[in-house]
Amino acid sequence: MDLRTRTSLFCGALALAIAVSILLRGRRRSADLFFAAFAADIGLWYIAQWLYHFVQADVWVRFTAILAVLLPQLAINLFEVIVPRLERRSQLVRVAGVLMVPMLVLVLSPLHRHGLVRGAVMLYVFGLFAAGLYSLALRGERSRSRATQRRVRFLVFTGALAAAFTLADFLWFIGAPLPPVGAVLSIVFLFVLAESMIRERLVDLYDILGQLVVSTALAFCLAGIFYVFVVLVGGFNTMYLNAILASIVILVLFEPLRDKVEQYIHRAFFLERVDLERAVQNARRQLVHVLQVSEMMQVVMTELEASRRATGAVLYLREPLGSDFELGLSFGPPALPRVDGVTARALVERLDRQASLVLEELAQALADRRPDTPPAELERDEQILAAAEALGAFRDGVICAIRGEKRNLVGLLVVVDDRVRDAFSHDDVALLESLSIQVGVVIENSRQYRRLQERDRLAALGQMAAGLAHEVKNPLGAIKGAAQLLAEPVDGKRLDPHAEEFIGIILEEVDRLDRVVGSVLSYARPAKGNPGTVEVNAVVRRTLQVLSTEREGETQVTLELGAALPQVRADAEQLRQVLMNLVRNAQEAGARHVWVTTLLQGDAAPDQGTKRGVEISVRDDGPGIEPTALESLFVPFFTTKDRGTGLGLAVSQRIIEDLGGRIDVVSPPGAGATFSITLPAATSPGEPAATRSASKGPEPLPPQPEPA
Ligand code: ADP
Repeated sequence: MDLRTRTSLFCGALALAIAVSILLRGRRRSADLFFAAFAADIGLWYIAQWLYHFVQADVWVRFTAILAVLLPQLAINLFEVIVPRLERRSQLVRVAGVLMVPMLVLVLSPLHRHGLVRGAVMLYVFGLFAAGLYSLALRGERSRSRATQRRVRFLVFTGALAAAFTLADFLWFIGAPLPPVGAVLSIVFLFVLAESMIRERLVDLYDILGQLVVSTALAFCLAGIFYVFVVLVGGFNTMYLNAILASIVILVLFEPLRDKVEQYIHRAFFLERVDLERAVQNARRQLVHVLQVSEMMQVVMTELEASRRATGAVLYLREPLGSDFELGLSFGPPALPRVDGVTARALVERLDRQASLVLEELAQALADRRPDTPPAELERDEQILAAAEALGAFRDGVICAIRGEKRNLVGLLVVVDDRVRDAFSHDDVALLESLSIQVGVVIENSRQYRRLQERDRLAALGQMAAGLAHEVKNPLGAIKGAAQLLAEPVDGKRLDPHAEEFIGIILEEVDRLDRVVGSVLSYARPAKGNPGTVEVNAVVRRTLQVLSTEREGETQVTLELGAALPQVRADAEQLRQVLMNLVRNAQEAGARHVWVTTLLQGDAAPDQGTKRGVEISVRDDGPGIEPTALESLFVPFFTTKDRGTGLGLAVSQRIIEDLGGRIDVVSPPGAGATFSITLPAATSPGEPAATRSASKGPEPLPPQPEPA
């Protein structure tokens, strides 16, 4: 069997396999059926060629001729369904249909082996096929979708190449011994077509084809090296030796060669992609040295704009403790100054789970939805699209999630190209995702840096305040003593009422000042306290007892104490001070009801490194805390009260953090405030086994409500 016959068998089998693979997918769209028929026609044609080699019967000649006549009809119809025309039905389909009848008559007639008939059939097949490709190319160029344009260009290119080489294959009949390249290219063309039928998202096809081109080019290079070594340089005797040498050369050259070929082909075929890649690389390189968020945004926007791959981009930053997103920087269409977190909730929730979202793709998927799609899924997607309206002119873009240290969403990077549809391939999106990761790192670093700066500033302020407070404390004592002396009756005579009133004011204000100075001192130079192991529930109960004596009665306090809590390491007095402060704050904010809850935190398996602790939360039904105030709550001297010191929470935070714990606050709009303190369990060796209770995660133990 010669090379041509063998190739016919291989190509025939492959074409039939491709046809079957499309049919097995079970989608009975007209495009799939036309494609399967087209591939089967080509497959059978090659198989018939191969059979003819063994049995030179007239029936095979006739069979191949019929298949050839059917081919343009199938091809043109297939091309029409791949990129449908917007106007009326194609003239070409009609012309092909009309011409097919006389051609069939000719090949079925006894004249079918006549040279003229053969010539006419060839002209008919290749002429119509070329016309079909040309019309496909025109439709592709007119398409608004960049992906469709690219795909059609590729299809037309491979189709034309396959047709030209198949035509050249016929030179074999007139004695020109060319290798059967046409057959191989026909299979490549079928593969390209098959991929375009399978891939819903057109741009993926382009990427697949890129890989195909790269690997084919690479295969040729490697085959070339092998050919030179094994065939040209050495004779048959030294073949094995040369094969080893060739393998070494291939091993050495493979990596650099692949990189070079890839680079070259990407430049030749995917120039736009290279532009985006370069822009993202430039931006990432610069971001390594950036610490300011404003500078980071400038770098990202400048590079994206310079890449010319996007007509607009916008960076939104999430408010540190809120849910809204504030406009950072943008270019292109006007960006909305704020994205409301509530309106965009569905979108944000989806981005919490995935790195990016291509809204255009989502809209397309919804448009093409299959009847069997679960309604819940459809509803979710529709909600996301509705939420995307909050992005204004950027609603059709690629949205990448920007995440902070704890994988929480801290911002959004939205990129659009409104010149075309499907503007970004999956590889492009992956590039943008990598950029977003780095943006997240910069945001996190800048926050960390600001925190450190703030800490240094506060430390300096604290030292200064401590010095000042110390200076003030002694004279205050003297003023108080003097005022008390003045208030005492002289010679049994009481002071006149005015003087008594003024001295009362002096004493009151001195006391207040003394408290402020005391707070400043305890913040600046916190007493180390006397930490020991304490029972949190006991401290909570005692605090509430103390508070109940001074409470005016209008705030109800409910205790919900968890059972079998481990002990914590703390100074009971300091812990009481913190709790008193939290409950008093709630009362002063106007809460009518305060709940103090304690519960076990941590895992059932503390030995495996999971930290256990006790959480004490103080929740109230007061007016809550403004999002803007939330940020500064623990900053010393921050207060919204006329006579507040703004030191209560700052001191509390300091005490808790010194004990290795943390204090957090949440205050959803209109739902009161909840302060939660977490303290690590005291893991003293003698800890009773009962405290190592099997509870999973931060799950409350059965509460024991008891009124304070
Ligand atoms: P101060 O009580 O002297 O103002 P704090 O540091 O204790 O200082 O509190 C700072 C601010 O936090 C208060 O002025 C108040 O605005 C706010 N705040 C604290 N707790 C609550 C609460 N439970 N509800 C509403 N606002 C609160």
